[in-house]
Amino acid sequence: QRRLKERLFDLMEQITRRWQTVLASDAAGQPAREYLARRGVSPRAIQTFRLGAAPPAWDDTVNWARSKGFEPDLVEQAGLIIRREDGSGYYDRFRGRLIFPICDEQGRVIGFSGRVLTADADTAKYINSPETPLFHKSRVFYGLDKSRRAILDAGFAVVCEGQLDLIACHEAGVANVVAPLGTAFTEDHARLLRRYSTEVVLCFDSDEAGQKAMSRALEILLEAGIVVRVALVPAPHDPDSFIREHGAEAFQSLVRNAEDFFDYHLKRLCSIHDLGTERGRLRVLEEMGRLLLKTRNDLIIETHARKTAAVLGVSEAAVRSEFRKLE
Ligand code: ATP
Ligand code: MN
Ligand code: MN
Ligand code: MN
Repeated sequence: QRRLKERLFDLMEQITRRWQTVLASDAAGQPAREYLARRGVSPRAIQTFRLGAAPPAWDDTVNWARSKGFEPDLVEQAGLIIRREDGSGYYDRFRGRLIFPICDEQGRVIGFSGRVLTADADTAKYINSPETPLFHKSRVFYGLDKSRRAILDAGFAVVCEGQLDLIACHEAGVANVVAPLGTAFTEDHARLLRRYSTEVVLCFDSDEAGQKAMSRALEILLEAGIVVRVALVPAPHDPDSFIREHGAEAFQSLVRNAEDFFDYHLKRLCSIHDLGTERGRLRVLEEMGRLLLKTRNDLIIETHARKTAAVLGVSEAAVRSEFRKLE
């Protein structure tokens, strides 16, 4: 008997091909084909990212796996089917969804993300594979297998939120891009990124959820010693919708002109606090200091202590001494 992981890799590859075929030519793939056309995803991107369609039936994967001779136990361990509570067999996890295969850094399929095709659905918009022997959500970036070369070449990685954002970035000529699955950005993600680059451009959704996710990712990245810049897509956009509306060049220039995080942060703090008051100035100082100290990088701290001092009209020494109190 072959090792479990090998058998799981084989199964993941086979079901990927199956779902690609459904999307390409089955009647059951029609809604997904229409959906992709409506969203403007190109045939080339569909190929590159190996997008697929899971038929709507509850037993499509169950039956397909049986016909291919895969043991139900293996298919369950792969996260593709779920055991019924009454013990009478299994049902499909991914039904009636557009399928995004998720690959490891070598490009082997290790999991899936599936999107509903209708807006009115009462289930989650996206579902992912559960944790399996191959798939650990908090350690995987969607797209890294296709962007690693470009990240090394560019010297930085763009981080966006979603699968469709990442695909749109690629189509817009920004290939050095990764997306955590869902909004949770972990320390493992930061470690993984640092193997490719020590500079990141955050390009999250403009909505509140996106901005919150950006703050969380930011702190983790700073603590990991990664230099962060921010590319802000204007409301109400995310990278995908921005690119569709404003085009590839506008997006490229957004990324190219991404501002150093601390410059952006200082400006933002100055716009929300009243610098005319001592309390306002102290808040700016504290907020800058709190995040600057996370970098543990004297060059960065000094540079921005100087800028903070200038904006607040106080000496750099005073700013540094206040920062030290925060440690
Ligand atoms: P779309 O444009 O298709 O609506 P999106 O990427 O803009 O997709 P968002 O709602 O902005 O979707 O969510 C960002 C990302 O968070 C998604 O791409 C997906 O990876 C993840 N996500 C969203 N909703 C869920 C969910 N209910 N469960 C798990 N992950 C989710
Ligand atoms: Mn969002
Ligand atoms: Mn979005
Ligand atoms: Mn979107």
